[in-house]
Amino acid sequence: MFDHPLTRRSVLSGMVIGMSALVLPKLLWAGDAGHGTAPAISADQALQLLKDGNTRFLAGKSEHPNLTPQRIADTSANGQHPFVTIISCSDSRVPVEHLFDRGIGDLFVIRVAGNVADTDEIGTAEYGTGHLFTPLILVLGHTKCGAVTAVVKGDKVGGSIPKLVDNIIPAAQRSKDKGLTGDALIVDAIRENVYQSITDLLSHSEELSHLEHEGKVKVVGAVYHIEDGTVEWLNPESRPVAHSSTASVASDAIAGEIKQTVQAWAQAWASRNVGKYLEFYSVEDFFTEKFSNRAAWERNRVKMLKDVGAIRVALTDIQVAVLDPRNARSTFTQEYRSKNYQDKTRKTLILQKEDGAWKITRESD
Ligand SMILES: [Zn+2]
Repeated sequence: MFDHPLTRRSVLSGMVIGMSALVLPKLLWAGDAGHGTAPAISADQALQLLKDGNTRFLAGKSEHPNLTPQRIADTSANGQHPFVTIISCSDSRVPVEHLFDRGIGDLFVIRVAGNVADTDEIGTAEYGTGHLFTPLILVLGHTKCGAVTAVVKGDKVGGSIPKLVDNIIPAAQRSKDKGLTGDALIVDAIRENVYQSITDLLSHSEELSHLEHEGKVKVVGAVYHIEDGTVEWLNPESRPVAHSSTASVASDAIAGEIKQTVQAWAQAWASRNVGKYLEFYSVEDFFTEKFSNRAAWERNRVKMLKDVGAIRVALTDIQVAVLDPRNARSTFTQEYRSKNYQDKTRKTLILQKEDGAWKITRESD
């Protein structure tokens, strides 16, 4: 990951060109330039560039730096040397370059609905820090985020959206656990979701957590206010602990509980013990897009289990991702066999802890 195709020379020449184009002339080399991976500026300087850019944007005094034909030619010939990696929502009211008043080759931006950090986003962030050497990662949420709001309200979503927004579930749950309701709940969940993406980035990427631990990368969170253009910088102290040894021991224990739960669920299903089988599903929060409500889904399951005859359900390769102490995702290979039908699929369950027991809130087909 830390080996890179650029020669020392190309990195240096690119940085000098990049630096000459920065707005703040006082920003020069931060630290020793003798290491191939040394960024051109420090994380704090990168953060200051973003803050200054937003101040200009708010004042109606944007300078639109680095948007000249010469900048296009420079970055094309010498490569990109952005100073920050940003994960932002795709919302069209969050124009990242504009709100920070930056131009071409300045910001390495990952845009995805709900500014979630799942595999593709994490890989892209690893590229931004490990290959492009940005000293700063920013997770940027925004007010009135549709993705977060949908998860908080439990709106029905179809297609691939459930798999996209499942990263937001732990954040929404934390906000609900605070007893918030209405607008206050949404506002808090948007903030929690920024922290969640930071946690996901650091807990699912050894590269990123290593760089952060070594002090080579700083990870910050912010919420962009679409009402007035302000960027609200979040307190890094408020972010949930991502990776301590106690957290990892707790995660192992939770993963064990989840594996047991998933096996017991399959057993209840295979033995066609309807009552026991249904108990594995959350009464409050289980959602399936195929049925208009839980009662309709339940009737379907009861009938299915009654009519199907003897079945066999075997699970192998059970994987667990502990999202936080109350939320987890389990993926496994499921072999199903009845008299008239059999299949082998990879399946996912989303589970949450309710009154000491793990309950299924989502189930893939
Ligand atoms: Zn959004």
